[in-house]
Amino acid sequence: MSKRTHAWHAHLPEIVEATTDFIAIMDDSGRLRYINRAGRAMLGLSDFEDVERRHISDCHPEAETRRLLAEAFPIARRNGAWRGESMIISGDGQEIAVSQVVLAHGCQNGGAGMFSTIARDISERKRYDAEIRHQATHDPLTGLPNRIVLEEHLMMELARMAQGRRHAHVAVMLLDLDNFKRINDSLGHVAGDELLRSVAQRLRNCVRTGDMVARYGDDEFTIVASGLSAMDNLLPVIHKLRAAFELPFPVAGQEVFTGFSTGIAVAPNDGGDPVTLLKNADAAMYRAKASGRDRYQFYAPEMNARGQELLVLETELRHALEREEFVLHYQPQLHLCTGRIAGFEALLRWQHPAGRLVPPSDFIPMLEETGLIIPVGKWTLRRACAEYRKLRDASGTQVPVSVNVSARQFGDHRLVEELRHILRDEGMPPEDLELEITESTVMQDTQAAGEILDALNAIGVRLAIDDFGTGHSSLAYLKRFPLNTLKIDRDFIQGRPWEENDAAIAEACISLGHKLGLDVIAEGVETAEQMQFLRAHGCDMIQGYHFSPPMPLQAASHFALHHKARAGAEALAQGVSKIPAIEKGRT
Ligand code: C2E
Ligand code: MG
Ligand code: MG
Repeated sequence: MSKRTHAWHAHLPEIVEATTDFIAIMDDSGRLRYINRAGRAMLGLSDFEDVERRHISDCHPEAETRRLLAEAFPIARRNGAWRGESMIISGDGQEIAVSQVVLAHGCQNGGAGMFSTIARDISERKRYDAEIRHQATHDPLTGLPNRIVLEEHLMMELARMAQGRRHAHVAVMLLDLDNFKRINDSLGHVAGDELLRSVAQRLRNCVRTGDMVARYGDDEFTIVASGLSAMDNLLPVIHKLRAAFELPFPVAGQEVFTGFSTGIAVAPNDGGDPVTLLKNADAAMYRAKASGRDRYQFYAPEMNARGQELLVLETELRHALEREEFVLHYQPQLHLCTGRIAGFEALLRWQHPAGRLVPPSDFIPMLEETGLIIPVGKWTLRRACAEYRKLRDASGTQVPVSVNVSARQFGDHRLVEELRHILRDEGMPPEDLELEITESTVMQDTQAAGEILDALNAIGVRLAIDDFGTGHSSLAYLKRFPLNTLKIDRDFIQGRPWEENDAAIAEACISLGHKLGLDVIAEGVETAEQMQFLRAHGCDMIQGYHFSPPMPLQAASHFALHHKARAGAEALAQGVSKIPAIEKGRT
C-alpha cells in the first residue's frame, strides 16, 4: 500500500460515520463492537450509548437474528460474504426492510474472527412493490381482490379440501347485481361506481374470516366459502347476504335498492377445479336470473331442491310469528305412585298455512340458526304462562307447566329479565313454571350455564335437565347446579324389546337423580311394560304416548278434568284406551 493510499485510509472512519447506511461490527457471538451514526439513529441509540453492551438481537426481530446467526454468519465465514434481505427493528419498534451484506474478517485459519454488516433501508421500495402487487391483484374501484387472486385462493382451498385438512365442501357463489345497468344509465357512472363500492363493502361484511369476496366483472362479484361440512352451512352466509341487501344504498343523493341473482357451485360435487366451478356457478347464475330477481340457484339439482326448500322455510318462519301460526300442545306428566297429574310439558307446533301441523324437529334448527328462536322462545314462554291459568282452572288443581328453552335462548342475556316480566304480566307463580334445558346445552359452557341457572333459580322457577343421558354430564356440575328435575331421554326408555344397556342406563339415571335429590321423570313411555319397569325402579314420573300424546289446550284441559274425576291410579293402570279425552287429543 502506497503512502498516499494510506493517507486516504485515515479518512475511512469519517466516511463510515457519515454514510446513511447502517454499518456495524460484531464478534462471532453477535456482540456489537461498533455501530455507525446512521445505525445508532436507526436503532434509536444515543451517541453516548455504550454499544458494546448491545447484541445483534437488539438490532433485528427475533426470527431475523436467528437466521443471521444460523445462516448469514456461517456463509460469510465460509465465503467471505453473505448478501440478502433482512429486517432491522427501529427504536420505536418498527420493522425496517433492509438489503444487507455480512462480511467475515480474520476467520481464515479457524480463528473466531469478526463480522461487519452493512444494511440499507429499502422499505420505500418494498412499499412501492407491494403497491404495484396490490394494483395487479385488486380491483381499483372497490379494493376487492380480482379474478387472479380469486382463482389462486380457490385453488388453494380446493387443495386443502382434497387433503381433508378442512371440511368437506368449498362453495363458489357468483353474484350478479340485478339492476346495475338501469342505475348506471339513469344516475350516471359516478353513481354507479359509488354503488359498486358500497356493495363491495357490504359483501365483505357478510363473509366469514377466511372466505373471499372478489370482483369478477362489471357488476359481478364472487364469494368463495370454504370449510363447509355440509351445504346447510352455507345458509348463514346467504341469510347475511339477504339481510345486508334489505336496506337501501345511498347513491347520488337517493336511496337505491339492489339485489343479486346468485349461482352457486359446490366442490367436490359440481367440480374439482376453479375453471369448472366458476363455469358451473355461472350457469346456475344465469338460471337464477331467468327465474326472476333476487334468486339463489344451486348448480346441482338436488342441492338446489334442498337449498330452495330451506330458503322458503326461512321466509315462512319469519312470517309465522306475526301471523300467529305457532301453537302449543300440552303433554301430561303423571306421578307414578299416585297416578295424579304432575304437570304438562308445552310443546311447540307450527300450524302451516297449507294445513300441515309441523313438528318442532322440522323448524327449530332453522329458528336456532337464524336467531328467530329468541322471539319465538319469548312468545312460547308468554303463551305457556297465559295458558297455564286455563289448564289450572279447568282441572281445578295446580298444574305446573314445563317449557323447553333452546341453547341459543339459554345463552341470551335478556332471558332472565324477560322471564321476570312475563311471570309478572301473566300472574304466574314462578314455582309452577319449569324450564327444560337439554343436557348438552348446559354442558357446553358449564361456567356460564351455572350463572344463568343460578339467576333463574333466584326468580323461583323450577329447572329440569332434558334429554338426560345423551350429553356427557359431569357429575360435579350436576351436583352444583340448582336443579329440580332430571328427564331421562326417551332413547333409553324405548328399547323394544327392552335393551339391557338401555335399561341399565335408565336405572342408573333414576338412582343418580335421587342421590342428587332430584325428581326423575322418564319421557317417551309407550307401553305398560316400560311403565312397570320404571315404577319398579322408583322413577317418580312418566310422560309418554302410553297414556297421552301432546294435545291442544282444549283437549289437555279435558284430560285434566277427566283425569281428576277418576282415581288417578286406576287411569294409569288402564292406560290410554280408557280415557276418552285423550282420544280427542290424538286427532
Ligand atoms: P323434548 O323436549 O324431549 O320433548 C319430548 C318429545 O317427545 C316431544 O316431541 C313429544 O311429542 C315426544 N314424545 C312424547 N311422548 C312420546 C312417546 O311416547 N314416544 C315418542 N316417540 N315420542 C314421544 P316433539 O313435540 O316433536 O318435540 C321435539 C323436541 O322439540 C322437544 O324434545 C324439544 O327439544 C323441542 N321443542 C318442542 N317445543 C319446543 C319449544 O317450545 N322450544 C324449544 N326450544 N324446543 C322445543
Ligand atoms: Mg322437553
Ligand atoms: Mg326430552
